[in-house]
Amino acid sequence: MDIVTDLRALIGADGVIDAEEVATRAIGVGRAERMTAAALARPKTTEQVGAVLHYCNEKGLKVVTHGGMSGLVRGTQAGPTDVVLSLERIRAIEKIDPDQRTAIVQAGVVLEQLQNAADEHGLQFPLDLGGRGSATIGGAASTNAGGNRVIRYGMMRDMVLGLEAVLADGTIVSSMNQLIKNNTGYDLKQLFIGGEGTLGVITRLVLRLREKPVSNNVAFVAAESFAGMVGMLRHADRALGGGLSAFEAMWNAFYRLVTTPPAAGRAPLKQDYPYYMLIEAQGGDQEADAARFAAALESALEQGLIADAVIAQSQTEAKALWALRDDVGQVRRDGSPIVFDISLPIAAMERFTQDLAAALPDAVGAHKLWIFGHLGDGNLHVIVQVAPESYAQAKPIVEKRVYAPLKAVGGSISAEHGIGLEKKQWLPISRSETEVAMMRAIKRALDPKATLNPGKIF
Ligand code: ZN
Repeated sequence: MDIVTDLRALIGADGVIDAEEVATRAIGVGRAERMTAAALARPKTTEQVGAVLHYCNEKGLKVVTHGGMSGLVRGTQAGPTDVVLSLERIRAIEKIDPDQRTAIVQAGVVLEQLQNAADEHGLQFPLDLGGRGSATIGGAASTNAGGNRVIRYGMMRDMVLGLEAVLADGTIVSSMNQLIKNNTGYDLKQLFIGGEGTLGVITRLVLRLREKPVSNNVAFVAAESFAGMVGMLRHADRALGGGLSAFEAMWNAFYRLVTTPPAAGRAPLKQDYPYYMLIEAQGGDQEADAARFAAALESALEQGLIADAVIAQSQTEAKALWALRDDVGQVRRDGSPIVFDISLPIAAMERFTQDLAAALPDAVGAHKLWIFGHLGDGNLHVIVQVAPESYAQAKPIVEKRVYAPLKAVGGSISAEHGIGLEKKQWLPISRSETEVAMMRAIKRALDPKATLNPGKIF
């Protein structure tokens, strides 16, 4: 069997890249390692995706689907005998309907491209995350991406009205619903959203768009205590009357990291508070919203919830404040980061972070600990940086320290990044045996030959 020749017969010569050329591609955005695969197929249509999958399923080949390659859990890792299916040539925005407030897009559309297209119609696609310039809509759906505005608009799952997917045997399932309300049996699209490419390949989507906000107010505030920060979350949500669109927390060490040279950012508030927050509100009236925003911060200061605050006076200043939050790349400086994306109830959060900080020196020796995240969603990004030479030894030890306590408090080992290969061994902390058995049953029903993204999740 000559896979490359066979696939070329199905989708054209330029649609297939052979193993040699595959090895020139990086395994992910900003990654140095090279990809391996028997072939990489780049179909142009849903029907071609069907043809590739039908062929691979018949021949017993395994298929790994690729989107924008900005994932963080090795969900797109392929081996030398696998076929990679890339959606990079299925990337048109087919239609934006301003009255229905929907977009019909192909899976390979890059997130930022859709954000810009919606903007031209006075609308917004509210999913937003650091990888917006490379992440694709199909990938965001397959991983149920979260990001910065979940507190207001939910995760990717909440923005998908319908989709089209191709099953392992090549069957095309068209479920391009564009209605907000449609209770007509099982919501089949949900199987593919967050399915990490194990149940089908998403090829097209109907997405819900929202009105583009007229006003955008951003502040950076500091709190003396965790309780103050939690109090501020409730206060801001209440005082801003539904306008709160982001509530991002930073623990002191992360704030110092991104506001101290050689990082480009400068500290908008002094550096010795234990907690900092970036708060954003969006609404429909610039003047009234700005006044409400300022009043909300003022009353928070009066009530002692926060100790200091600075409000962005222009969109340039707002961008500079967001740039601090987005400068996560600093954690790669001078060491190797072990990255976590966890959820836990707010009531358990302070104790969890204190216990972790106390345990790490004995567990791994010299290290740095940075914590930040989407407090409004109960989602923390915990980063433990160690020396490159001790990374391999430290990683499983730190993972155990971070993940094990989550079980008792009902936390999750993955808030928004997914499981992939990276967190597979830890899945039982967040999912019961019965739940995993049910997942396996669904997998068997839709992909009996285990063609799609084998070995991922469980
Ligand atoms: Zn995040």
